[in-house]
This record gives sequence, structure tokens and C-alpha cells, in this order.
Amino acid sequence: MAKYALITGGSRGIGRAISIELACKGYIVVVNYVANEMAAKETIDMIENAGGHGELLPFDVSDEKQTDLALEQWETAHPEDYISVLVNNAGIRKDNLMIFMQNEQWKDVLNTTVNGFFYVTRRLLKNMLTHRDGRIINITSLSGIKGLPGQTNYSSAKAALIGATKALAQEVAPRKVTVNAVAPGFIATDMTADLDEKELKKLIPSGRFGRPEEVAALVRFLASEDAAYITGQVIQINGGLYT
Ligand code: NAP
Repeated sequence: MAKYALITGGSRGIGRAISIELACKGYIVVVNYVANEMAAKETIDMIENAGGHGELLPFDVSDEKQTDLALEQWETAHPEDYISVLVNNAGIRKDNLMIFMQNEQWKDVLNTTVNGFFYVTRRLLKNMLTHRDGRIINITSLSGIKGLPGQTNYSSAKAALIGATKALAQEVAPRKVTVNAVAPGFIATDMTADLDEKELKKLIPSGRFGRPEEVAALVRFLASEDAAYITGQVIQINGGLYT
């Protein structure tokens, strides 16, 4: 039976690297994105060039109706299959000092990370529980553990994801579904392209930003059978930045 993995925000950055990594492990990867179709198609090309298989599934994770509709259509098209690995990776940054923060900056970041986690995970959980087989991996952040100034919205969203990870892990562990969070530090992607890498890397003991592929390798392990006894954890990957 084919094994499926859904990566939200699989079109670029960390999500793309995870998509390719899991495809190399034999999963058919369902690549979600919200706007950037060209990048998503590139991810599929990279998966196929690596000898794997992938499908596109665009929807806005922060939109309950779009999420339900897209996943319902996927289920209708794949009546014999279910998604056994879910990586909640879609995320955005809209930094501002709290005193200047606009309602939209607050809502957009929380809706994408927290509501997005809820809408997608709730929908896929039933099949994982029925089949007693599931891996849910939530991409949180150093910012959700330590808090970072200018990111009250983002730190709140990522901290909420950690709470959700710990609660859900306890709910579903008896059914062989694991739920873990991965907390990257600074990883070189579009999201960090506007940061002052030269200055920031002085703070990182490893002396450099991480690569998306390094995060993907950790996700691959958490998705594997070898990680069956790891659940409810937050695993940091940050080059030694102490939190
Ligand atoms: P990125 O390069 O900006 O890519 C973001 C991805 O999320 C894109 O695929 C984007 O799709 C998708 N996305 C955004 N909003 C979405 C929505 N509403 N519905 C569906 N997909 C949506 O970001 P990244 O650096 O790879 O970050 C990936 C995850 O890691 C995020 O959750 C981020 O918070 C977290 N993280 C990143 C770092 C870092 O240093 N880069 C550190 C810690 C945590 P489109 O291509 O269609 O726009």
C-alpha cells in the first residue's frame, strides 16, 4: 500500500526540503502551498528528479473551508489511501514591535500557525487513529521557546503550537500516533532572507545559519518507525543557540 505524507507549505524553504527527503524515503508527498504555484511545481520536479512521487494540493491552511474542501477532494480521489505523515510546516512572519503591531499582523500569523495546525490536523487525525499509524510533526521555532523581541505574534503562535503538540501527543499515543515539534533556530530560506546574517551568525555557536536539508533530516527520523517511542517532544535544531 502506498504511503502518503502531507507537507503544508511544501513549495519553498524547509517544507520543500522535507518534501524531497520524505519522497526519497518512499512516501508519495502531497505538496501544499497557498500562492506560489511555480515554486510548488519546482518542488514536484525535484522530487521526480530524485526518483520519487509527489502531488500538488493548494489551499490556505488558515481558511477552514478551503482546507476541508481540499482534503475532502483528496480523500475522494484516493478512496483506498490515507495520509500517515503530516508535517505542519506552513508559517509566516509579520514582525513588528508590540506597540505598533496591527490587528492584521497579529491575526494573520496566529491564524496561519495555530488555526492552520488545527484545521489540517483535525481532518487527518481520524484515519491515523483508525489505522493505528500516524506521525504528526509541527514546525515551531526558537522564537516560540525563548521569545524574540519584535515577534510577539510569531512567538505566541509558535508557543501555542508547542502546547498543542504536548496535549495531542498524550491523547493519541495509545493509538500509535506520535506528535512532536521541531524548533529550528536560523535557517537560510526566503523567510530569513531579510535578516542580517553576518551579524546574527556571530551569536550562533556553530557560526552559521542552518540549511533546510538539516531540518528535513530530523523530520525524516521523527517520521520513521525508529522514532515510535518519541512523542510530545520539542526538538531544537539551532547550531547551539542556547534557549
Ligand atoms: P518560507 O521559505 O517563507 O516558506 C513558507 C512556506 O509556507 C511556503 O511554502 C508558503 O507557500 C507556505 N505558506 C505560508 N502561508 C500559508 C498558508 N496560509 N497556507 C498554506 N501554505 C502557506 O519559510 P521557511 O523558512 O521554509 O519556514 C517554514 C516553517 O519553518 C515556518 O513555519 C517557519 O515559521 C518555521 N521556521 C523557520 C525558520 C527559519 O529560520 N527559516 C526558523 C524557525 C522556524 P507559498 O510558497 O505558496 O507562499
